[in-house]
Amino acid sequence: MTTTRFAPSPTGYIHVGNLRTALMNYLIARKAGGSFILRIDDTDPERSKEEYVDAIKQDLEWLGLHWDRVERQSERLDRYAEAADKLREMGRFYEAFETPTELDLKRKKQLNMGKPPVYDRAALNLSEAEKDALRAERGDGVWRFKLNHERIEWTDGILGDISIDAASVSDPVLIRGDGQVLYTIASVVDDTEMGVTDVVRGSDHVTNTATQIQIIEALGGTCPRFAHHSLLTGPQGEALSKRLGTLALRDLREQGVQPMALLSLMARLGSSDPVELRAEMAELIDGFDVSRFGAAPTKFDVQDLFPLTARHLQSLPLDAVSGAVAEAGVPAELAEPFWLMARENITTLNDLAGWWDLCRDGAEPLIDEEDRDFIAQAMELLPEGQFDGDTWGTWTKAVKEATGRKGKGLFMPLRKALTGMERGPEMAALMPLLQVIRARG
Ligand code: GLU
Repeated sequence: MTTTRFAPSPTGYIHVGNLRTALMNYLIARKAGGSFILRIDDTDPERSKEEYVDAIKQDLEWLGLHWDRVERQSERLDRYAEAADKLREMGRFYEAFETPTELDLKRKKQLNMGKPPVYDRAALNLSEAEKDALRAERGDGVWRFKLNHERIEWTDGILGDISIDAASVSDPVLIRGDGQVLYTIASVVDDTEMGVTDVVRGSDHVTNTATQIQIIEALGGTCPRFAHHSLLTGPQGEALSKRLGTLALRDLREQGVQPMALLSLMARLGSSDPVELRAEMAELIDGFDVSRFGAAPTKFDVQDLFPLTARHLQSLPLDAVSGAVAEAGVPAELAEPFWLMARENITTLNDLAGWWDLCRDGAEPLIDEEDRDFIAQAMELLPEGQFDGDTWGTWTKAVKEATGRKGKGLFMPLRKALTGMERGPEMAALMPLLQVIRARG
């Protein structure tokens, strides 16, 4: 069965970059009728926070990315220890004691000599006595996986055929000196034991994948299909990494971005398929094909989410937004006409309150000097009693007859006097909602 996972570390809020990974894995699983796992990569007890675990779940639920089960790496530490023992027995695991400063120095020397900065495996030559001495002096060492120096090859679902010379990669540290298991091995153990068949993640993981393929093989597992999506950049191609903090999903939610707008964009951005606003997740699932994504960095402009959000809202019936309409203060009996008027004139639901304020309190009238008498005369002609869908027509007809004005010269001053704006909703739809004037009338 097709099984995918989204594996965030709960060390912060998830952002649009993470969403791309989550969504691709989700869509692959759903399209295949498979299973989607939310895996919390919390082997770092210091940086992992429960509040972020909750936040990640909330963000995914908001988007409708429902998972079939949750796994937590912190609950599986014994599995990772077992795998580490196995690698030790096989002679593929060795303890190394260099300090970060020493490693840094080695790297600089290599770079000066024009060599790639690959760990030199000095620790392999340590005798047991030397190791004991180092352990006594510096505490436990880190544990590195000994790569086989051969080419590591796979066919990537997005990047195509990849071939990496293992000798150009440092033996990865899988366990830190303080005993903390690193994701590189934890992930391999999980993917193997949980039957993960497809792994999509960012192209910053390509080298990890190369080393993980050897670890999976050493542990006797089956490699999942790997696909590495390109990283997002800003609209001008600038690196997004520093700004991702401001592109947290919860911030976008606060700003009023609608889930379907965000999903429609992220499920196609960077692929050869056009970005089109979709009404349902099912449509995104149907049309999804990871192989249609390109390797080039993908430009992301947060501003693109707003027109998509506006268009999505225009298509919604009151039912879908009644909570937000009530929250804006609109009384239930006016909810339907208010929404039909407002949905054409908002970018996000956050704009509803402003339109309701206008309906309830009226606006500071905008009256040009030369229109003063005209507006005074027009106000005298406002129909009595309840305003309805015909009020605007009846009124403007009467004003036209009384003043001889027509067209823009008739309508625009009236609009500006009632709404304080030159543009806005259909006046015929707005009139029945204008509470202040109705009270006056
Ligand atoms: N926790 C890892 C990360 O967020 C998971 C990477 C993976 O998909 O294997 O980078």
